[in-house]
Amino acid sequence: MAGLQTATMRKNIDTFQNEPFLNFGNPENKRQMKDALASIQKELGKTYPLIINGHHFYTDTDPLITSYNPGNKDEVVGYVHTTDIANAERAHHAAQLAFEKWKVVPADERAFYLTKAADIIRARKFEFAGWLIIESGKNWREADADVAEAIDFLEYYARSMYDLASPHKLSSVNHNIDNDVYTPFSPEASALTYIPLGVGVCLPPWNFPLAILVGMTAAAIVTGNTVVLKPSEKTSVIAYKFMEILEEIGLPPGVVNYIPGYGHEIGDYLVDHPQTRFISFTGSKAVGLRIFERASKTQPGQKWMKRVVAEMGGKDGVVVDETADLDRAARDIVVSAFGFQGQKCSAGSRAIIVESVYEEVKEKVLALTKELRVGLPSDNYEIGPVCDDIAYERVLNYIEIGKQEGALLLGGHPVDGKKQKHSGESEQEEVVKGYYIAPTVFEKIEPQHTLFQEEIFGPLLTLTKAEDWEEAINFFNQTEYGLTGAFHSSDEHRIQHAYHYMHCGNLYINKKCTGALVGVHPFGGFNMSGTDSKAGGPDYLLHFTQAKSIARLID
Ligand code: NAD
Repeated sequence: MAGLQTATMRKNIDTFQNEPFLNFGNPENKRQMKDALASIQKELGKTYPLIINGHHFYTDTDPLITSYNPGNKDEVVGYVHTTDIANAERAHHAAQLAFEKWKVVPADERAFYLTKAADIIRARKFEFAGWLIIESGKNWREADADVAEAIDFLEYYARSMYDLASPHKLSSVNHNIDNDVYTPFSPEASALTYIPLGVGVCLPPWNFPLAILVGMTAAAIVTGNTVVLKPSEKTSVIAYKFMEILEEIGLPPGVVNYIPGYGHEIGDYLVDHPQTRFISFTGSKAVGLRIFERASKTQPGQKWMKRVVAEMGGKDGVVVDETADLDRAARDIVVSAFGFQGQKCSAGSRAIIVESVYEEVKEKVLALTKELRVGLPSDNYEIGPVCDDIAYERVLNYIEIGKQEGALLLGGHPVDGKKQKHSGESEQEEVVKGYYIAPTVFEKIEPQHTLFQEEIFGPLLTLTKAEDWEEAINFFNQTEYGLTGAFHSSDEHRIQHAYHYMHCGNLYINKKCTGALVGVHPFGGFNMSGTDSKAGGPDYLLHFTQAKSIARLID
């Protein structure tokens, strides 16, 4: 790589800082966001190829994936070529060949590719946020946070790799270690190195289409592995935009191979492949468990046990006791439940509130929820659409179940999304066709109810009453998931209890249960929320390496 000066660029993890979020109250940022959205309009409807070993492939697989704007169903974001088994095999083979060279590229150099990519995304953050707004339905703030997290992953894993490649402290022996046969003592030098695994299959979800895709890919390649990257079929255009960056920084061909397509068509093939060394998956519980099971079956010719990193769904919640700051608790309940329309794995879809303050918190939550405006993400409404027709039907179906199980307080129906109509000086609103559902709140939901147990992944919040704080925490734990949770209280003894007994991978005290920051809140869940790999944490890269211990006699 031209101009690579490893000696001067080495940075350790202590120098990591999170990418600041944009302030859209600033008119200049607002202007730049609008400009970026306007220029993306001219890019819509293009066709995107596969990228295998650095070559662009326009396949004859029919039909192409059509990526729609979920906030405006008539708007086509792009057409994406799909991968069949033959091309999946080509991509895998390319990754196998590239691995032989990439695995010996010095760690510093691999890390430098990541920081170069971060620099480019940072310089073009409005453009990346624009694609996220249009393809995934995030509002400006959520899209900016997704871009910032992608930058953070690149910067953080680059620094983690520098640290991982540095010498590790080991003990030394000063006596004869062979008990049976006398040999004179000789000193030895020992070392521990972390070497890559091989070819990894990366399967990101649609809901953080930049951040999670970038994070899992960056972690895999910076540790010396090569990747077959199958993005979500719902957000393959934004994934392609990241591939353009990898081309721009001159990442060697075959290190990352981009093969968009449907999970149910090529997923099993990639997972089962005997040359797949690891699978890095983030997505639903059902798919994660399927991958976990299939990966454990040894295929003819397979020489290893496949490593599976599977981060899955959540049924997260906010617990509020009677000593809490109730305004803050209500605000955090609403933000956790309805941010990005509840389509975060960390979404706080359950609020569990102590009886004595239940009515007060409920009224506050309802008042705040009523203020949320629903409309086109490009026009930055607080609540946008759910991601597609399937999600739309699923959430409406859960609403029907909720009507049987509990009592509907707010929403509970599809709603017309709004968009800004700019006519002359005045700004008016008009209706836009998208997958919009009114923010919905149910009460009288009990722990055994479906709405309390199943991940809904939409703008639906349930309220549950508990006798006291201990029962509230007990209710919180009564799901098979264990991803995020928040406890609102001012009682130190109870907070200490929550530290130990709220069983989730990411616990927040007097905060919302969403918005984990790379390096600050390493992220991953317990139980059916996955393998708790703690993305954005100090141990994450270990999942993509194997440790080799070397001892050398010094004569
Ligand atoms: P999904 O499980 O439908 O898909 C995830 C990825 O797996 C996609 O790329 C998809 O194409 C692929 N896939 C689908 N079937 C496959 C198969 N048989 N074999 C291999 N790959 C297959 O999930 P989604 O709808 O994209 O994402 C939403 C889910 O992700 C939610 O459950 C959410 O909670 C979870 N999620 C979890 C985290 C976390 O860190 N725990 C983060 C974000 C999202």
